[in-house]
Amino acid sequence: MDDCIFCKIIAGELPTKKVSEGDGWVAFRDIAPKAPEHVLIVPKEHIRSLGEAQDTHKDMLGRLMLATREVAETLGIRDAYQVKVFSGENAGQTVFHLHLHLTGGWKEKQSDN
Ligand code: 5GP
Ligand code: ZN
Repeated sequence: MDDCIFCKIIAGELPTKKVSEGDGWVAFRDIAPKAPEHVLIVPKEHIRSLGEAQDTHKDMLGRLMLATREVAETLGIRDAYQVKVFSGENAGQTVFHLHLHLTGGWKEKQSDN
């Protein structure tokens, strides 16, 4: 996707703070972190949103979920992290290339919401 910033990051055309990479995904730090640790886990394939994912993306979606474990381990927060996905503009999605927000690094217990 020519005008997608995450595709450009994946292609190495835009700089980023990469955390790790795996089978079909890459993890890099969010440019405007909303938690002490805030990493985006992004499939290398361009999919606009979770709501537009297809059955053919099943394996990749599974790999993204398991990638959270690996990235959390790398960050040293495997015992406590949150994963969030915004799907659609009215849900707060601003970059239309599917991504998981992985946040953590708090020193106190978080609420359920
Ligand atoms: P969304 O609201 O679509 O779920 O999240 C998009 C996220 O991407 C935001 O948290 C935003 O800070 C982050 N972001 C936007 N542009 C860039 C960028 O160029 N580089 C990085 N690393 N993160 C970005
Ligand atoms: Zn893209």
